[in-house]
Amino acid sequence: MVEVIPHWLDKQAELSPHETAIEIPNQHVVTFHQLRDESRRFARKLSNKGVSEGDHVAIHSNNSLDMVLGLHALSYLGAVAILLNTRLSETELTYQLTDANVSLVLTSVEAKQFIATVNQSYQICTFEQVHLHNELAISLKKELNLDELFTIIYTSGTTGFPKGVQHTYGNHWWSAISSALNLGLDHNDKWLVALPLFHVGGLSILIKSVIYGMPVYLMEKFDVEQVDQGIKIDGVTIVSVVSVMLERLIDKLGESKYPASFRCMLLGGGPASQTLLERAKKNDIPVFQTYGMTETSSQIATLSQKYALTKIGSAGKSLFPAQLRIWKNGKIAVESEVGEIQVKGPMVSRGYYNNEIANQKTFENDWLKTGDLGYLDQEGFLYVIDRRKDLIISGGENVYPAEIEGVLAAVPGIKEVGVIGKQDDEWGQIPVAFVVRINKELSIEEILTYCRKHLAKYKIPKEIYFVPSLPRNASSKLVRYKLEGLLKK
Ligand code: ATP
Ligand code: MG
Repeated sequence: MVEVIPHWLDKQAELSPHETAIEIPNQHVVTFHQLRDESRRFARKLSNKGVSEGDHVAIHSNNSLDMVLGLHALSYLGAVAILLNTRLSETELTYQLTDANVSLVLTSVEAKQFIATVNQSYQICTFEQVHLHNELAISLKKELNLDELFTIIYTSGTTGFPKGVQHTYGNHWWSAISSALNLGLDHNDKWLVALPLFHVGGLSILIKSVIYGMPVYLMEKFDVEQVDQGIKIDGVTIVSVVSVMLERLIDKLGESKYPASFRCMLLGGGPASQTLLERAKKNDIPVFQTYGMTETSSQIATLSQKYALTKIGSAGKSLFPAQLRIWKNGKIAVESEVGEIQVKGPMVSRGYYNNEIANQKTFENDWLKTGDLGYLDQEGFLYVIDRRKDLIISGGENVYPAEIEGVLAAVPGIKEVGVIGKQDDEWGQIPVAFVVRINKELSIEEILTYCRKHLAKYKIPKEIYFVPSLPRNASSKLVRYKLEGLLKK
């Protein structure tokens, strides 16, 4: 059976024509009716560029209303949107454009200059230029087939080469529905988007907005003052953040509190340190820790607020339509045993674009092998430990870099830290740490004294190097394998 639904933006424009779809802080609001009309107009103009059903069109832009129009316009044309991280280097961009078979790049004016240097063989067009075209009288999609492809987003490339994750309309639909079944819907909801729309975490909020009839408070980028104002003054009730954003929001909050109407700080994208979660708790911030990845179209597990205090550090349970298991030596792990996290569900991608090798490695009988390690406690709550690739085995003991990084990050005077394993004749591998200091006085001995108090002996880094910065990818994630190049052989 082919599952078909009415085009979601048409439907919401019919149900909530005068409700706010997009609020650009301190500027203006766009209703669902206006968003629909504008997006359809944009689609008709875009067809002047020859875009039609099944074409792959890249979007290279920071968050903007034009980017939102572009995305919806592509869905009205039945074209596939390839969302590009604006912080990619020229080489990375060229790779993704080629790999994804892109026929046109849509870009913001500022980005055009950069894109133009990438490769002249791509048709490049700014949003402005599209707006100047006449509308062609073509027929637009009235329905969405849930099996059809809507977006391709590349993974962050933290463990290796980025892979193009395909998302169908159905993946996005189920992601939005699953989140609503977990967080509930409130007619006062307003969800702030400061995460980039080119990541699935940001994009998913835009799609939730259309499916729920909920306003999105759209920011070009994260700005701590603006987010604070959004929550305290402009009625924002939900914010999606990554750890570093939450850190800065808590610093800004000082002694003040968020209003009771603020109901959810959805925290995801990577590990969160115990220190951060405890600071949030002290400030009465309703943090919901989530686990997810590009392949799962955003969150796939979330810790409900009612367990926020008793299960601190857990990413909760898998969302209603999803399944999650811990896999160890070809079978399901026992309680509290660490193994690979595997997930299954209608929000999970059907595979990577143009990458059979990765597909064979990652997908098996509808289960996605995440490459992440974790365990379930006796009540079935998930604890994400680290990436399997980064596991250090020292003298037969498993050592997880993320745990050591979390401890070291709390040392006063340390700005950031990365831990990897180094080959060792006696132990097999030993943990070594790369530290960026705020305080140049901080000594190795002081760090080790702190470690002795907080870490078992075999987890204490055997070598500590001070470095000016850590290798990070375009998503600001620590790329541990690049630290290996810094090791003294
Ligand atoms: P690549 O797959 O190319 O190596 P990536 O995995 O970093 O890059 P993303 O899809 O952006 O690409 O990130 C998803 C990953 O982020 C997860 O697989 C997991 O490793 C990490 N992550 C997400 N949520 C959490 C969490 N709550 N705790 C720990 N790690 C998390
Ligand atoms: Mg990954």
